[in-house]
Amino acid sequence: MAELKLSESRDLTRIERIGAHSHIRGLGLDNTLEPRDISEGMVGQVSARKAAGVILQMIRDGKIAGRAILIAGQPGTGKTAIAMGMAKSLGLETPFAMITGSEIFSLEMSKTEALTQSFRKAIGVRIKEETEVIEGEVVEMIEALGKEKVQSGDVIAIDKVSGKITKLGRSFSRSRDYDAMGPQTKFVQCPDGELQKRKEVVHCVTLHEIDVINSRVERNKMGNAGTQGFLALFTGDTGEIRAEVRDQIDTKVAEWREEGKAEIVPGVLFIDEVHMLDVECFSFLNRALENEMAPILVVATNRGITRIRGTNYKAAHGIPMDLLDRLLIISTKPYTRDEMRKILDIRCQEEDVEMTEDAKQLLTRVGEGTSLRYAIHLISAAALACQKRKGKIVEIQDIDRVYRLFLDVQRSTQYLMEYQSQYMNEVSLGDGDDDD
Ligand code: ATP
Repeated sequence: MAELKLSESRDLTRIERIGAHSHIRGLGLDNTLEPRDISEGMVGQVSARKAAGVILQMIRDGKIAGRAILIAGQPGTGKTAIAMGMAKSLGLETPFAMITGSEIFSLEMSKTEALTQSFRKAIGVRIKEETEVIEGEVVEMIEALGKEKVQSGDVIAIDKVSGKITKLGRSFSRSRDYDAMGPQTKFVQCPDGELQKRKEVVHCVTLHEIDVINSRVERNKMGNAGTQGFLALFTGDTGEIRAEVRDQIDTKVAEWREEGKAEIVPGVLFIDEVHMLDVECFSFLNRALENEMAPILVVATNRGITRIRGTNYKAAHGIPMDLLDRLLIISTKPYTRDEMRKILDIRCQEEDVEMTEDAKQLLTRVGEGTSLRYAIHLISAAALACQKRKGKIVEIQDIDRVYRLFLDVQRSTQYLMEYQSQYMNEVSLGDGDDDD
């Protein structure tokens, strides 16, 4: 009987809230990996969902490690939604780490350290431990007596006043012993048959979690005050972790694997807006994927042919050819009116907003003319407008009001062009960054 004890410090992206993708609960596939029409919050994008499902199946079967997948498509076509769907379908035991390309660049740590941490967040270690099965309050008594003295089925008497514990064994007689020991005595029988059994308890942690906790121990040894281990896991304030610490951990984990005490669970590392990485990061990714513990790397971008950061070369999706060649590419396509309407319906439900049919139709048209994301944003704004006029259900007038109040990109650009001369404009330095 294996009991799963989950790590308490999971990636913060797992925390549920009404966010952009909170309606996504999976990929919405049936047992044969065929996408259902509307399922688990997912609509349309059939072939991309199917392809993601195949990858998921391969991850579950443990068949692939160190593979990389690129989800490419126009803005707002559900690339992140598909990655979130994969994360939700994986279950909590398989680690899923998510970052955006630009997060790699910070003053606190080098790019490669940030990438290494992300990789190690996506590699799980299942550590098996054998423990005795002893339930509830009996645990304390057994400990007090010394476990070898007690067998399953034995009765133990506890004096509730003095706390004294006496083993009565199997020859317990309620009337005799109760009378002899008095009303302040509580009698407990050890669970029958279970006491001698051993149970396997499985702890799932990520390599990153092991790194952070051990790194804290290291730092304290050296007399440095750092953020406390567990706290650092939550705040993300981990600082750089020394290569020696990681080497020691890798050696220890390898030993546990040899002894059959632990196994590696390669998870998924999702890097959104991958075109934000530079050429050094790409070369790091190439090398990291060769590691035998490497997770599945899923990257996404909405860029076409664009400059590879850190070079003057242009390439498809801003990714160098050698990495591009390793990627299995899944492409997403723009939504039809009907699909857009269904996604907006789901978002209304998710945000608990009631809307008339006419208003939904108008919102869908707005989405077609602007973007799906803009239309999604208008839902809660329209609900507020409706609340303000003391309405109960969002109507056309509310959509109309917020459409005028908040500009979409197209209208904002138009406005900019009309009033360009009145803005402070930067003088181009001609750094060649012409594709952003
Ligand atoms: P970008 O390239 O701009 O990052 P993207 O392709 O990652 O865009 P998403 O952020 O995934 O697009 O999608 C925009 C919004 O539409 C999100 O709220 C997302 O959850 C929702 N959405 C996209 N596709 C679907 C879908 N097939 N089913 C349900 N919701 C979807």
